[in-house]
Amino acid sequence: MPAKQVAIVGGGWAGIACAVELADQGIPVTLFEAAKQLGGRARRVDWDGLKIDNGQHLLIGAYRETLRLMNRLGTTLHLERRPLRLGMPGFRLQLPHLPKPLHLAFGLLLAAGLSLRDKLAAARFMRHLQAIDFVLAADQPVSELLAHQHQPRNLIEKLWAPLCIAALNTPLQQASAQVFCNVLRDSLAGTRADSDLLFNRTDLGTLLGDAGLTYLSQRQCEIHTSSRVESITRVDQGFQLAGPEFMATQVVLAPHPAHLPALLTGLPELASVAEQVNSYTWQPILTLWLRFAEPLSLPFPMLGLGDSQAPWVFERNDIAPGVVSLVTSADGPHLGLPAEQLRDDYLSLLAARFGPLPELLAWKTIIEKRATYTCTPDMPRPANRTLLPGCYLAGDYTAGANTGLTYPATLEGAVRSGVECARLILADLK
Ligand SMILES: Cc1cc2nc3c(=O)[nH]c(=O)nc-3n(C[C@H](O)[C@H](O)[C@H](O)COP(=O)(O)OP(=O)(O)OC[C@H]3O[C@@H](n4cnc5c(N)ncnc54)[C@H](O)[C@@H]3O)c2cc1C
Repeated sequence: MPAKQVAIVGGGWAGIACAVELADQGIPVTLFEAAKQLGGRARRVDWDGLKIDNGQHLLIGAYRETLRLMNRLGTTLHLERRPLRLGMPGFRLQLPHLPKPLHLAFGLLLAAGLSLRDKLAAARFMRHLQAIDFVLAADQPVSELLAHQHQPRNLIEKLWAPLCIAALNTPLQQASAQVFCNVLRDSLAGTRADSDLLFNRTDLGTLLGDAGLTYLSQRQCEIHTSSRVESITRVDQGFQLAGPEFMATQVVLAPHPAHLPALLTGLPELASVAEQVNSYTWQPILTLWLRFAEPLSLPFPMLGLGDSQAPWVFERNDIAPGVVSLVTSADGPHLGLPAEQLRDDYLSLLAARFGPLPELLAWKTIIEKRATYTCTPDMPRPANRTLLPGCYLAGDYTAGANTGLTYPATLEGAVRSGVECARLILADLK
């Protein structure tokens, strides 16, 4: 066996990030991906010849590691950067082109749909979080934190609940207040550029999976798609992978957390990790794709159509003129509706907002049932380095380098974890 033979199991954004980081340091890897394509939960889907996404994604300016990765792959040109604007019926918040913290102060002051009391309460809450450096004495549900901080109901409904559900994909009553604070620190309380919204103007496969495959192949890495690793066991000097037979000196496990326990059955030393992950519950995300005969004229590429249970509509003329996606996060009654009824309900919401709609040519619903884990207070997150020397964990659920800055299940959380695994491997190889 060569001196170092790194295997990565899973070609989502975490696995790709780890592979790119290692390849850049002259360590070619062998990556196994069970699906036909790379990308995992952020991938391309074919819709009768149109390249769409498995689910609408949104990036923000604070996604530093994701942007660094995309810079290396040369795909940031596919992102459209816009200053943060949140708009829904009866509410609009827009952050002006001003330096921090004036952008937030003026944004809140000028917000439409909030009373003066709401605005003062929001400013007070943000000042409080800044004073404690966004670190809570103890984690708790977001709803409790907001109640302790005397946040008015209108402010919660218009601002905090939609932000929490969009960022953590978890309802306020269940969501981790500490992770919510981490997101607020990086977005609303960050620089104006950190809070910018970045819209992908190409499908997610082009944004990362395809470019990752090309980049890694050019750097002596081997990428095996349609290649599910069935088991991993310890052998002298490393690990034996089965499914595809492969011997590795180091192995990075980067599957969806729901698939991790099965992979760990051959590694009894990591039974406690499997136990942690087995305690997770999951939250869905529904995306309804609509193709109209003509483009809708949206004043901004992303608009809310109602309260936190209602969808957000995204303009996706980049896919084809007239394409929009409507996204509803987290569990809710919408998932119990027949697909046709949900489509008609969402068309009514669109018509109520934009007037008579152009002819609908086609539609498609994609429900990712395990889009993310439920991001609860103090949820157990395994470290990237495991108890087994040479075995590392990457993925949006892992603890990351700085446990105080833990992210929710996001592209940035996934990419950071992959980069951290690569750094640990490089340090261990020295
Ligand atoms: C619909 C939807 C919308 C989202 N919206 C946003 C958003 O707006 N912004 C945001 O930042 N994040 C969003 N997310 C979350 C984001 O997509 C995920 O956090 C991120 O993609 C997770 O990446 P990962 O690499 O950790 O895991 P995954 O993407 O789950 O990757 C794991 C990979 O491992 C492979 N695998 C599993 N088992 C094996 C095996 N035994 N052998 C080989 N391969 C295996 C899987 O096929 C998969 O490709 C959204 C997610 C969904 C589903």
